[in-house]
Amino acid sequence: MSIKDNVKNLLAELGTAELTAVTKIRSIAEIKEAIEAGAKIIGESRVQEAEEKYNELKDCLKENKVEFHFIGHLQSNKVKKAVEMLDMIQSVDSIDLAEEIDKRAKEARKVQKILVQVNIGKEPQKFGVVPEKTSETIEKLKSLKNINIKGLMCIAPYFEDPEKTRPYFREMKRIQDQLGLEILSMGMTNDYKIAIQEGSNMVRIGTGIFGERKY
Ligand SMILES: *Cc1c(COP(=O)(O)O)cnc(C)c1O
Repeated sequence: MSIKDNVKNLLAELGTAELTAVTKIRSIAEIKEAIEAGAKIIGESRVQEAEEKYNELKDCLKENKVEFHFIGHLQSNKVKKAVEMLDMIQSVDSIDLAEEIDKRAKEARKVQKILVQVNIGKEPQKFGVVPEKTSETIEKLKSLKNINIKGLMCIAPYFEDPEKTRPYFREMKRIQDQLGLEILSMGMTNDYKIAIQEGSNMVRIGTGIFGERKY
């Protein structure tokens, strides 16, 4: 199926949940095709790649009212650039990073929308705050005036059988409800159906739109 068909089918299937089209390694032409089909959020995971694409896409993003989100690990020396171009940083994985974003957003006279990334499976190779520390972390971030904490994001542990992700998504939903946050960004190509069933209202899909990534 074409990129256009994939986006249209996903938008119909997701209903009120939002679709972040994950565009890492995809070409400008492929991204534009997704936008033409109705994608309203695109997500990149590396600052340099995001910057290169932003320069080519910014008019298209503006015309089509498409938001540009960041979903990867953000290094502090890249925050200034990130804040200049991004509508939302979904992957804020530490207090230090949030403080740096707040500082740079203040300089740019902007309030930066963010999600706090939770390492819901407590996997050593993944970034994010551990579930037990989420509430405390959010409390600490509330004093920062140039960030706006819109919600939470997670990458569930990978299982061949996506059904096994369900308890992690359920726990994320519980934390979101407890903290009264609006956005819950969870679910990727392999597990988004389960994530939606458990209350996700934003999914991040790359392969399911653009096909397998060939590095
Ligand atoms: C690459 C990526 C995705 C999309 O993964 P697919 O399996 O291709 O849908 C989602 N979230 C993050 C953080 C990613 O890096």
